[in-house]
Amino acid sequence: MPERVLTDVLIVGAGVSGLMAAHVLKGAGASVVVVDKGNEVGGRLATWTIGAGSADLGAQFFTARDPEFQTHVDSWIADDLAFVWSRGWSDGSVSDNPRDGHARYAIRGGLATLAQHLAQGLDCRLETQIARLLFDGERWAAQSADSMVYEAKQVLLTPPVPESLKLLAAGNIQLVSAEAELLDQIDYQPCLCGVFWIDGDIYLPEPGALQRAYADVAWIADNWRKGISPDARIITVQASSGYSHEHFEDSDEAIISRFTAELVAFMNPNAHVREVQIKRWRYAQPMKLHPHRFLAATGLPLVFAGDAFAGPRIEGAALSGLAAARALLAK
Ligand SMILES: Cc1cc2nc3c(=O)[nH]c(=O)nc-3n(C[C@H](O)[C@H](O)[C@H](O)COP(=O)(O)OP(=O)(O)OC[C@H]3O[C@@H](n4cnc5c(N)ncnc54)[C@H](O)[C@@H]3O)c2cc1C
Repeated sequence: MPERVLTDVLIVGAGVSGLMAAHVLKGAGASVVVVDKGNEVGGRLATWTIGAGSADLGAQFFTARDPEFQTHVDSWIADDLAFVWSRGWSDGSVSDNPRDGHARYAIRGGLATLAQHLAQGLDCRLETQIARLLFDGERWAAQSADSMVYEAKQVLLTPPVPESLKLLAAGNIQLVSAEAELLDQIDYQPCLCGVFWIDGDIYLPEPGALQRAYADVAWIADNWRKGISPDARIITVQASSGYSHEHFEDSDEAIISRFTAELVAFMNPNAHVREVQIKRWRYAQPMKLHPHRFLAATGLPLVFAGDAFAGPRIEGAALSGLAAARALLAK
């Protein structure tokens, strides 16, 4: 017999959306289990170790435009977790960053530290990949790849939408056609990302990053100057969505060679690359958004949330998780 875990709410995904939702549900007295296929919490809030240093590999910073999200950011600042990293980015044509007014926040220790902070006190089960969802009219049974069964009254799905839909298809769960059509339209742009351990100096504009909307290599950032890699110069390089789409299947060597050619222009002639790691994000950021902050499936105790719902990026994912949790409590 497979081992069973019983809970009021099962949250699939320990990214920012799932973690924020879990706190609201737990605070209201519900029992909550959060499962994630990864070996760390955070999802696209990812900080990798490379050599003697570390680098943010997915999201690089975040903004706060919504007052509710700003109150959370303020509490992270009060906890000495979040700090203002910049108020704008240079495209490399000027050495200083243009100040357009919006605070761009980063997290001490890297963005994964925010996820670890949010996961405190929650029942998070890592390396737990849900393979399919079954519903008997009353309860959900979520089967994991390692033959555990999570039984829940309600389910919150926060993976990228195409991945959530696969879980439902595997269990023959049908959504009403209007909802299925809306969810089917949601797609994501990919992102090729490299982290480079550099020996020597590299000259990037203040405060150690550049952003170029129309270049193949759209983002270069120095994690040492960001303050999250005190012992080693680790540079994050991210390609544009167009380049990433076109070259997603290229070999690591080809991607490294393209990124290195770009980096060399900023490196001291004596500097050299010690080590490189490549990450391919298939679902980096949503291209088309659902019009609401969550989708509550008609006739099922099931809610979809994440950054594809009404607001992309970290802020949108957080607000979606919060709104989805309230919807689950109201059901
Ligand atoms: C390269 C890159 C750069 C970015 N830059 C920025 C930026 O600078 N600023 C910004 O605000 N945002 C940025 N973003 C977007 C931001 O990271 C996301 O919007 C946000 O983190 C999404 O959170 P989420 O909780 O919705 O999804 P995720 O973080 O993707 O969480 C979903 C979780 O579900 C898990 N999962 C999936 N399928 C299963 C399954 N079957 N079983 C169990 N678990 C499963 C995944 O492992 C994942 O942890 C960037 C993203 C990327 C990839």
